[in-house]
Amino acid sequence: AKSVGGNNQYFYNPALQAALEIRTELGRDLHSAISGHQLSLYYQAQVDNKRQVLGAEVLLRWQHPQRGLISPLLFIPLTEEKGVIIDIGHWVLESACMQLKAWEADPRFSALKIAVNVSARQFYQVDFVEQVICILRNTAVDPHKLKLELTESVVMDDIDGTIVKMHALRRYGVSFSLDDFGTGYSSLSYLTQLPVDQLKIDQSFVHNIGVKHSDAIIVQTIIGMADNLGMEVLAEGVETEAQRLFLEQHGCRHYQGFLFCRPAPIAELETLVIPAPAA
Ligand code: C2E
Ligand code: CA
Ligand code: CA
Ligand code: CA
Repeated sequence: AKSVGGNNQYFYNPALQAALEIRTELGRDLHSAISGHQLSLYYQAQVDNKRQVLGAEVLLRWQHPQRGLISPLLFIPLTEEKGVIIDIGHWVLESACMQLKAWEADPRFSALKIAVNVSARQFYQVDFVEQVICILRNTAVDPHKLKLELTESVVMDDIDGTIVKMHALRRYGVSFSLDDFGTGYSSLSYLTQLPVDQLKIDQSFVHNIGVKHSDAIIVQTIIGMADNLGMEVLAEGVETEAQRLFLEQHGCRHYQGFLFCRPAPIAELETLVIPAPAA
């Protein structure tokens, strides 16, 4: 490490340097990712207590020609900075609805729902509501099968505007899930104003169920609160049977996590839904 004058110390950090280089490179490649069809969608099942698949969350993947499969945690922030998240988000929504449409014709899949993540920039477009309705009309999909996942921070940026948009879409049949619930810093009083159908308990709490007593208490509290507010609750990041059991015993009925399946291409999700033929 070298220090440069006064109180301003600069440290050379190879890991940070590498991360910055990747960022710059990905930023440059983002355009070809979109035009070159390098983005794809994975699906992760959402299941009930009997492990029956109720639907799936759609998750973006970037198949980079040199770097392989890149996590959205790395590139979503870039797409937000550059504004391309708006086009990408629209494409994700459209693709999810086309998938719902394809499933409608098959009785094995026709009851499945799809949850789509919506970023702040996407949601705060003035015509977001119209865009969603337009996609639903064009694909002729039952709006009740579409669930939009918003995070607390997106909601809190403009709570009044958010509520107006949510009501408009809910009137149309679309449902809402509050993602990463419990990680925000916002007051709980806003929850009673928000027309949400589901709280998604953040995976950090689920992870700590058997590890950190206070997190187990938080999980119990979220489930109880959701119940009292008439909201559904889904636990994400469920990795062990012990976690699932704790959640079930405390009244949770919806789960998502590696215990059931990893995010995977659509064909893999479909094999999970189709019961294996009797031996
Ligand atoms: P998220 O919405 O909280 O999605 C859940 C993340 O947890 C996913 O990471 C998923 O692969 C991962 N996960 C699921 N089950 C488990 C588990 O049992 N254990 C662990 N350790 N992880 C689990 P992923 O796919 O890397 O996505 C990361 C984030 O990127 C998402 O977090 C979401 O915020 C964002 N994202 C993904 N797709 C989209 C998209 O289409 N649009 C927007 N705006 N954001 C997206
Ligand atoms: Ca999500
Ligand atoms: Ca989440
Ligand atoms: Ca998250």
